[in-house]
Amino acid sequence: MTERVLRLAVPNKGRLRDSSASLLREAGLDFEQTERALSVHVRNVDLDLLFVRTDDIPEMVADGVADVGITGQDLLAEFEAASGVSLPELAQLGYGHCRLVAAVPRASAAEKLEDLAGLRIASAHPAVTRRIFADRSIPVTVVPLRGSVEVAPKLGVADGIVDLVSTGSTMMVNGLRPLDTLLSSQAVLVAGPTSGSVRSSEIEGMVTALAAVTNGRRKRYLLLNAPADAVTAISGIIPGLGAPTVVPLAQDGMVAIHSVVDANAVWNLLADLKAAGGRDILVLPIEQLIP
Ligand code: AMP
Repeated sequence: MTERVLRLAVPNKGRLRDSSASLLREAGLDFEQTERALSVHVRNVDLDLLFVRTDDIPEMVADGVADVGITGQDLLAEFEAASGVSLPELAQLGYGHCRLVAAVPRASAAEKLEDLAGLRIASAHPAVTRRIFADRSIPVTVVPLRGSVEVAPKLGVADGIVDLVSTGSTMMVNGLRPLDTLLSSQAVLVAGPTSGSVRSSEIEGMVTALAAVTNGRRKRYLLLNAPADAVTAISGIIPGLGAPTVVPLAQDGMVAIHSVVDANAVWNLLADLKAAGGRDILVLPIEQLIP
C-alpha cells in the first residue's frame, strides 16, 4: 500500500499564522503560502502543509485529516474538554503566549473564583471553562460566545468572563478586573491519537527540526578574546551550555573563548565579561541548536 504524504496543519490566519510560517521556514522548509491555497506541497521535503483555521486544527488532527498540527494550548484544552479526546503534545513552540483569565467588571464584589458561584460566565472557551469550574466545585452557568467576550458583561449577557489575554490591556480598557489565571498557553505541535505507529519516525524528525529552531532562539553564540590568565575568572561568569571552548590566539598570552549562553543572560553578562578582561566580544544568533 502506498502511504500518502505526511500532512501538517498550519494556522492560515490570526495570531499564530506568521510566527508558524517563520518557524517552518527557519527549520528549513521551502514552501509558498498564498491566501487562497488550502494545501501546498513543500518543495524540498516530502510533506504537505494544510492551511486551516487555528481552532479547527485539533479536530483535523484528531480525525486524521492531518497527521500533526500547530495550534494553541488553549484551543487544544478546549477541544479535549469538548470531545473527551486527548491529543499528544509533541513540542512547545515558544510563541503565541497568552493566558486564559477569569475577569469581572471593576465594580463587581467578586474577589476570587469561588465568588463566581451561581453567576453567568461568558467565554469563547466554554468547554474548558466548564471543566475548570467543575473541577473546583464552583457552580457557574457558562454562556458560549464566538467573539467579543470582553463586552458581554456590559451587554448584560454575563456577570463575568473567561477570555485570553497577553498583556491584560484589552480587559482594562473594557472595565474588567482579572480574578485568576485558569491556564497558560503557547503554540504547540500536536499529533493525532493514533499517529504513533506508521508515521512515528517522520514525526520524530519534524519534532527534532522544529525543536532545533526553538532551542536556537533561546540561545546566543558568544565569542571573545582575553588574556590567558583571565580564563578562570571568565569561565566562572559564563553560564554556558557546557564548558567554554578556549583556543590559543597567534598573539602570545591571548585566547579566544567561545560559548553558548541564554539569550536572557546576555544583558547582564557583557559588562562583567569586559571587567574580567574580555574584549572583542561578539554575540551571534544561533539558527538551530540540538543539545
Ligand atoms: P486568533 O486566530 O488570532 O484568534 O488566535 C489564535 C490563538 O492565538 C489563540 O487561541 C491563542 O492560542 C493565541 N493567542 C496568543 N495571544 C493571544 C491573545 N492576546 N489573545 C488571543 N489569542 C492569543
